[in-house]
Amino acid sequence: TAQKETLGFQAEVKQLLQLMIHSLYSNKEIVLRELISNASDAADKLRFEALANGSLYENDSELKIRISFDKEARTLTISDNGIGMSREEVIDNIGTIAKSGTREFFQSLSGDQAKDANLIGQFGVGFYSAFIIADKVTLTTRRAGDTQAVRWESAGEGDYTLETAEKATRGTEIQMHLREGEDEFLNDWKLKSIIRKYSDHITMPIVMKKSEWKDGEQVETDEDETVNKASALWARAKNDITDEEYVEFYKHVSHDFQDPLAWSHNRVEGKQEYISLLYVPSKAPFDLYDRERKHGIKLYVKRVFIMDDAEQLMPQYLRFVRGVIDTSDLPLNVSREILQHSKDIDGIKAGSVKKVLGLLEDLAENKPEQYSAFWNEFGKVLKEGVGEDFSNKEKIAGLFRFASTLADTEAQVVSLKDYISRMKEGQDKIYYITADSFAAAQHSPHLEIFRKKGIEVLLMSDRVDEWMLGSLTEFDGKKLQSVAKGDLDLGTLEDEAEKEQQKKIEDESKSLIEKIKTALGETVNEVRVTHRLTDSPACLVSGENDLSGNLERMLKAAGQ
Ligand code: ADP
Ligand code: MG
Repeated sequence: TAQKETLGFQAEVKQLLQLMIHSLYSNKEIVLRELISNASDAADKLRFEALANGSLYENDSELKIRISFDKEARTLTISDNGIGMSREEVIDNIGTIAKSGTREFFQSLSGDQAKDANLIGQFGVGFYSAFIIADKVTLTTRRAGDTQAVRWESAGEGDYTLETAEKATRGTEIQMHLREGEDEFLNDWKLKSIIRKYSDHITMPIVMKKSEWKDGEQVETDEDETVNKASALWARAKNDITDEEYVEFYKHVSHDFQDPLAWSHNRVEGKQEYISLLYVPSKAPFDLYDRERKHGIKLYVKRVFIMDDAEQLMPQYLRFVRGVIDTSDLPLNVSREILQHSKDIDGIKAGSVKKVLGLLEDLAENKPEQYSAFWNEFGKVLKEGVGEDFSNKEKIAGLFRFASTLADTEAQVVSLKDYISRMKEGQDKIYYITADSFAAAQHSPHLEIFRKKGIEVLLMSDRVDEWMLGSLTEFDGKKLQSVAKGDLDLGTLEDEAEKEQQKKIEDESKSLIEKIKTALGETVNEVRVTHRLTDSPACLVSGENDLSGNLERMLKAAGQ
């Protein structure tokens, strides 16, 4: 039936459209970027599905994106011969925000337009950007292999219509009816310059009609012209690529609207052959701590897109890294199962991890401000690394930054190397304390003796710290020692006179200790005279091999 159906948007979509139009208006050129990016993704998907089913090409395997406009009708049209969408897919992908994070998204909106615009990019809502410049959008699409096409139409105000349609060619065509005043999108030269600026790196041709000057006017000819470079950016030589191109490519692969913090582009040759282009984002996505979340590496084999989110290519603790890995070592029909058992993939992963850690070390060394921005966004995730990646443990730990009693502020700026360089004469351990808040760590009575003696102590209060310390017991040959655990032996840090004085107090206190022990009974293991306190009368201490007090509290809170 060709009946027209009217369906309502999800409430969030409506809200999102309003927000999108207002906050991105000053940056409306991105509409083209987003729609071209979708068309390119659709071509990638077709290529991938066609590996198993060649008939999907329907004798048309020259994938491309076409952009055209009609001055009279005031329409701008983007069409592709990619995978297309079925009716269900249109409803799911275009009528809904299918992403799980919709609620978090609305909760994180700040009302600050610049910030909110950046958030939008993380939610895979690029398609809706069309409404920034259009007051009506008509999408006609036919999925590869299907006979029936479907037409979706909306003015972006709460509902949309859906009807069956005829479409000879496979793929998706999006026609935008431009809003009043958006005539710049009806200009041949302007469109071409936007495409070159934002979409040059798209690997398939973006074609437009060639135009000529006739009687002082630009007129369209019948001839096609490829507007973009249409070559894989990562396969080009480094010194051939500008920073702007790297940044635009990042936005395409990451779906992020913000610039990346840093990137690393490498061509590996020899036993293994692959190219990697890896980016560190400048902001953490809202679902960074969701361990189920998708990974950000796209896998290509000899320039052919194979899959998104190839989780075998980056360890969990580097799940914020985005980018592309292109190898000649794998077959085109590689599956996720094959990836799990591939020695080649293990080698590529190990090499890529080294590159990312190297990039971070370089940032820490040469751009400390950028590194501290990175640390604030991703430090907690990186800390998972010492437990996950044994072979790079020392390197990873070298990237850690902590708060300490030296500055006595919450800012995490002290590296283990800094700490060691400031160790007192005779000090052989790295002292730290963990607590469930910075204030609790900072004011712990366990610190009194250290403050008195001027010995620096690392103040740890991130939830992940306890787990991290379970794996990181040593750095650069120095043991990490909790100041709240076991017998505090400051060894050579104490002088003889002090020791004698302590011995005397211990002898004198024997009967008092006995009385306290009897009073507390089973609730404690031991009662001891201590010299670690200078102001507080008493404190609780864990045994050297017990869980720390903080970890015990965390486990209790988690119901264990
Ligand atoms: P994202 O690209 O981040 O997923 P978009 O809002 O840009 O978010 O697109 C939403 C979804 O709509 C895409 O994931 C895709 O499934 C579908 N889609 C959009 N444009 C096309 C297209 N040209 N061809 C096929 N599917 C498309
Ligand atoms: Mg998109």
